[in-house]
Parts: sequence; C-alpha cells; structure tokens
Amino acid sequence: LATDQVDLRQLLQEILAQISHQQPIDQVEIDFQLNNLPLIPGDRERLRQVFTNIVLNALQAMNGTGSLCVHGDIDNRQACLRISDTGPGIPEEIREKIFNPFFTTKKQGTGLGLSVSYGIIKAHGGSISIDSSEQGSSFLICLPLGNHPA
Ligand code: ADP
Ligand code: MG
Repeated sequence: LATDQVDLRQLLQEILAQISHQQPIDQVEIDFQLNNLPLIPGDRERLRQVFTNIVLNALQAMNGTGSLCVHGDIDNRQACLRISDTGPGIPEEIREKIFNPFFTTKKQGTGLGLSVSYGIIKAHGGSISIDSSEQGSSFLICLPLGNHPA
C-alpha cells in the first residue's frame, strides 16, 4: 500500500465529478457533508477504488433518482464516512453475503466491488459495515487517523 496523506473530502469530490462525466446524475440529490476531516494516511488510489465502488452501487440502487448522502465525521480516533442512498435497501437474507467475492444480484454484476473494498479497508486497519433499512442502504467506512495532528 502507498502511504499518501489523503484528503477524503477532496477524494470524494473527485469521484463524484468523475462519475458525473460518465453518467447523468442530475436527478440525484446529493447531500455532501465532509468538513473538518484531517488528512488520513492511506493509499489514495486504493481508497478511490473503494469509494467509487460504493457510490456506484448506491447510484445503481437508485436507478437515476433519489438522494445520495456522503457524510464524514471523526469518531474514536477514526475518520468515518457514511454513504447512504434511498434505493430499495439490502434484504436481510443477503446482508451477510454482499462482501463475499462474486456475490451479485445484478445481471451484469461482477460481485467483486464490495469484497475488494473490504480487503482494502482491512489493509488500512479500518472497518466497513452496512446498516440497511427500508429507507435504503447505508455503508459506514472507518479509517484510522494518523498519529500526528494533520
Ligand atoms: P456488484 O455491484 O457487481 O453486484 P458488489 O460487490 O459491489 O458487486 O455488490 C454486491 C451486491 O451487494 C450487489 O449485487 C447488491 O445486491 C448489493 N448492494 C451493494 N450495494 C448496494 C446498495 N447501495 N443498495 C442495494 N444493494 C446493494
Ligand atoms: Mg458494485
């Protein structure tokens, strides 16, 4: 893993800009609140891969309309990002499988996005979990802060 000092706010902004060049997202309301997060040590390109996967899953779940929330906070010496959508949510019976390699419910899915993301976040000493309800899906990704003030 590279050890960049990663600005998560900037990274998520870049990811949304990149996606909006590739698909129309103007029907999706975006609630973006990532303020005052310090730089975190990590591999920027691997983290780009993780957040791109999660945001694309959220957009696919909403199929063009809904709200995407990207919120960030410091919690317990970690930077925690919550990425939520107003899609159909993840049925209880498949929640424990979605991080498995090749598990997909999509016709053209690879089922690799979340398993790769899980490995990358673990390699950073972080955690990734879901919190899904009837209102949609919500992914919580926490990454350790560095030891020095950024
Ligand atoms: P893929 O996107 O190729 O299907 P992923 O590993 O990214 O593979 O996701 C695995 C599965 O998890 C998806 O097929 C879908 O069933 C479920 N999933 C992931 N994110 C969401 C979401 N935001 N809303 C609903 N289901 C989701
Ligand atoms: Mg995916």
